[in-house]
Amino acid sequence: LKRSKQSGRTETYHARAFDVARKQFGMETGLRRAIESEALTLHFQPICDLATGRIVSFEALARWTDEQGVCLSPDAFIPVAEESGLIVPLGRWAMDEAVRTLAAWNDAAGKPCDVRIAVNLSAIQLQRDQIPSMVRAALDRHGVSSNQLTLELTESAIGTDPDHVARIMTALKDMGATLAMDDFGTGYSNLAHLQRLPIDLLKIDRSFVSGMLADRDKLAIVRAILSLASALGMTTIAEGVEALDLAQRLAALGCTQGQGFLFGRPLDRDRAYRLMAERNA
Ligand code: C2E
Ligand code: MG
Ligand code: MG
Ligand code: MG
Repeated sequence: LKRSKQSGRTETYHARAFDVARKQFGMETGLRRAIESEALTLHFQPICDLATGRIVSFEALARWTDEQGVCLSPDAFIPVAEESGLIVPLGRWAMDEAVRTLAAWNDAAGKPCDVRIAVNLSAIQLQRDQIPSMVRAALDRHGVSSNQLTLELTESAIGTDPDHVARIMTALKDMGATLAMDDFGTGYSNLAHLQRLPIDLLKIDRSFVSGMLADRDKLAIVRAILSLASALGMTTIAEGVEALDLAQRLAALGCTQGQGFLFGRPLDRDRAYRLMAERNA
């Protein structure tokens, strides 16, 4: 960076912009390496049937332990992955790792386990990668059936190019996978999409669920989503269920499944398997 003669302010501005760029670039390089190493892992959070307590699936959530040993949240590195295009290799890695985990669990159980794993797909990933063939290849590579796989998309992922996303979703659905609408209620909800797209599961965003016992407006929104889902024949999952009274209330309102710290935090592959064996015995 050249020293600015006229104005110290310009210099400071450039220095700052440079700093941000360097930090971003450092993170990008680190992330690139992490995808090829053990630094990136998947953790698995249980999703339970609210009536029986049975674990019906696990959501795969990416974790990155950087060179300093700090565990970074996906909210910090997924945006960087999206901006840099690294979301394509990261997404492929996550899919492979999730399906590999299903294969390992099926092996350990001696038969296909009665659970699914849900993998998150990002908007940019949908634009930049060939999702159906990528998913098919991962399933074939590990000998896992598509009925053990759920794909999660947010409303914003559909917003950019609904026809393109509709084709991808239809292909995934025809393949036998389950499709979930993630964080429902927070995006630019277009109800026509819900009706037009082959969505099986509606995940009600944590921001409505967690405060609904104390806030009448949140409760009203949760009720409205539940009734919409039921009218459209979709299964519902409440996100962010941290307390028993909340789980009971959701069940009474007709919500099918719950995910949250009450049922379990995201766990590594072996701990998740043990939890499933124990709970579903
Ligand atoms: P998400 O798909 O909505 O995942 C649920 C997030 O809520 C997870 O955060 C989970 O740890 C958190 N959570 C679950 N239950 C509770 C609860 O009871 N209380 C609270 N306070 N939080 C709860 P996490 O793991 O930090 O992931 C954040 C987001 O990053 C995910 O949101 C997802 O959009 C994205 N993400 C994670 N892994 C991947 C991935 O492999 N690929 C893509 N594209 N995105 C990912
Ligand atoms: Mg999700
Ligand atoms: Mg979510
Ligand atoms: Mg979320």
